[in-house]
Amino acid sequence: EKKTQKINDLGDAVFRADLEKAVRYSLEHEVSVRKVISGAALKALQNYLTVLAKYFPVKSENGKSFFRDLRDDLTEVSDIEGETFLRNIKSAESEKGSPFLISSTQDWVGCKGSEENFRGFPCGLWMLFHMLTVNSVLEKSIDLGFNSMEVLDAMLGYITHFFGCQDCSRHFQQMALSMKTEVSSPNDSIMWLWKSHNKVNKRLAGDSSEDPIHPKIQFPSQKTCPACVNSDSNWNEPQVLQHLFNVYSRENISHVGLS
Ligand code: FAD
Repeated sequence: EKKTQKINDLGDAVFRADLEKAVRYSLEHEVSVRKVISGAALKALQNYLTVLAKYFPVKSENGKSFFRDLRDDLTEVSDIEGETFLRNIKSAESEKGSPFLISSTQDWVGCKGSEENFRGFPCGLWMLFHMLTVNSVLEKSIDLGFNSMEVLDAMLGYITHFFGCQDCSRHFQQMALSMKTEVSSPNDSIMWLWKSHNKVNKRLAGDSSEDPIHPKIQFPSQKTCPACVNSDSNWNEPQVLQHLFNVYSRENISHVGLS
């Protein structure tokens, strides 16, 4: 049975260029700027690379092994300097022949702000983790030991140890206190992240960080998913879940903006 449908090109599109750019920025700027990575931060980095290796929709086996090799290099050490990690990325890319993550000089596509200081990386990071929760669930049939918390735990580790916005990190860690009690099935992980992102959207609506061209809404909008809201104005959660599968599944990710 097919779990996803093609979404309307105008509605809630997810761009591979943005996902790749978010991964590159996270590894080359947020992780690599750390002087030394050790202990819980090192474990968090390994978990982040593990979920990327498993669920980031790479074009070839080379892509999977890029993330896996970077992670495996970390299992043999008790700490690593950020600069060494950056060198590992560069040499892994040159060994594989062609870089498969978009160059940092290419622009954001869906996450492009109407001005320089709006959107960009935080937008790409949210989309990356939504995409990873959805694709982990779509692939779970081939992974018998599936752990519903795997992607959310990796996200929490990343946000706790590496996300440059410290206020955001603190808020997210606070929200994540409910994660273990609220997530008991694979689909719950997708829905927990959707709900949590909407709580952030609500808090930030009208804030000075809001791009006026892209106001913070309770997602998805009535326009992109009319069936997601019931006549009593409450969410129709099965429809929301279906919409999230449609929007974030690897087969529906747009390649616009990639050369
Ligand atoms: P974003 O909120 O970044 O959303 C990106 C895209 O995701 C949207 O365009 C939409 O297509 C999709 N989307 C939106 N809502 C949902 C949803 N509920 N489910 C699925 N998809 C959705 N900024 C602060 O000022 N304070 C904070 O405390 C803060 N906490 C953050 C915590 C995290 C973990 C992250 C990643 C970011 C945080 N930010 C915070 C940044 C902020 O949430 C936005 O990312 C930023 O303001 C850019 O907003 P945006 O308009 O690009 O949309």
